[in-house]
Amino acid sequence: MKKCKQCWIVMSLKSNSQLFCSRVCRSDYNKEKLRNYRNERQREKTGKYEPWKIQCLICHNRYHKVCTHIYYTHKLTSREYKEMFGKDVGKWILSEKVFEKHSRKNKENKDIVWKNLEKGKKHRYKKWQKGVGVYSRSEETLERLKNLCKYKN
Ligand SMILES: [Zn+2]
Ligand SMILES: [Zn+2]
Repeated sequence: MKKCKQCWIVMSLKSNSQLFCSRVCRSDYNKEKLRNYRNERQREKTGKYEPWKIQCLICHNRYHKVCTHIYYTHKLTSREYKEMFGKDVGKWILSEKVFEKHSRKNKENKDIVWKNLEKGKKHRYKKWQKGVGVYSRSEETLERLKNLCKYKN
């Protein structure tokens, strides 16, 4: 039993890849998605308060990805920012929402991620976190990283 992603009508299946009952539904769905995306972008730009966002300590606005914000707005790398405010260099400054998305994505290859973590590889680090993986990982740091991935509010 497969339902249209837009109107939830049950479809008679022609192919497994079919997500919508009609072209109208597909275009409506895409339009909505685009609108949501734009709204989110706008909210991110204005730094509007949302409880799950993280506050930038420089301008006191709130963002999902403080790292990205400080890089483009204040021209600081995440490491410089963290050093400026004495934050733990190994800590991720991602909001809960973004972090959950990441951990969900990593769920399937979690074992591999842990293995790499224990070997001290830089596997998990993205470009904008460059430099974060440089410090040597103590037992304590490893423990914290593990807890972070289990993190739920
Ligand atoms: Zn439909
Ligand atoms: Zn800021």
